[in-house]
Amino acid sequence: MFTRRRLALATGALSVLGLSGARAYTPGAGLEVAKYDRPGEGSVNSFLLLGPRSLVIVDCQRTAVEAAQVVAHARGTGLPVEAIFLSHEHADHVTGLEVVRRAFPEAPILAGEGTRDYIARNGAALISQMQGFFPGRVPDRLPVPTRVLRPDERITLAGAEWRVDQLGRGEASGMTLLYSEANDLLVTADLCGNRATPWLLDGHVLDWIAQLEAALPRYAGVGTALPGHGAAAPAGVLIREQLDYLRSMERAVRAELAVATPLTPEAARRIAAMMAARYPGFPRVAPMPNLVELNAAALAREITGG
Ligand SMILES: [Zn+2]
Repeated sequence: MFTRRRLALATGALSVLGLSGARAYTPGAGLEVAKYDRPGEGSVNSFLLLGPRSLVIVDCQRTAVEAAQVVAHARGTGLPVEAIFLSHEHADHVTGLEVVRRAFPEAPILAGEGTRDYIARNGAALISQMQGFFPGRVPDRLPVPTRVLRPDERITLAGAEWRVDQLGRGEASGMTLLYSEANDLLVTADLCGNRATPWLLDGHVLDWIAQLEAALPRYAGVGTALPGHGAAAPAGVLIREQLDYLRSMERAVRAELAVATPLTPEAARRIAAMMAARYPGFPRVAPMPNLVELNAAALAREITGG
């Protein structure tokens, strides 16, 4: 799916995204945003931040097939690629990077320091793991980001000014957000998805909940958030919904642990059934069919310190 909107046309943008109650955009910066994702299980977003004279690619998909589509859409704009930005180190956002880098070799690859260091240390292992899951569809190497973004750095990308916001470990070992005040726009990455079943296997869910609680007053008024998974929406809506999902998981896991510790496979299945009923039709951010059971087990280990 490929959607495109003009931020300068406030009513058009709002209707395209199906938002309600959101503030109008501040026109003037001339920024547009396009989203690419392959819908379904394991879907992940890449965005093109389209400025008047250049574009920036946000995240690079999991496989070469999907990354090649991001490249095709970027080429189709006719704009030069100013930079490639990686929000965090998870495979679904980065293992397609080599395809994008080869297409646009002049573009610097931007990432937070933690993401850069993780890729430098573990990139080869991440690639071979993903090649095991998707034989013949994952590039052979993972380039190391070439330009580190510093916390609170102001950076001009696609003709707009962005503030770099780096959150510590949560969904991943780190998360880099980009905020454009003039465009009322926040690249949230995986701080929040939109109606997606999240990945909790990094084992820092309690940190993630605290991160969302801290982010809520800071970004609740931002009109458009670009999440790592699912459709764009007002930031406050996405942050609250992500908090609701994670708190539900935490409550369910704690309730089962009060009955039996460690968490039994039956308890994990009960939690998965409850979550499926409460959050129906949320595609999984990773393709494994038992992701929610795995999430429940990981969260139980995190809570019990096991
Ligand atoms: Zn993700």
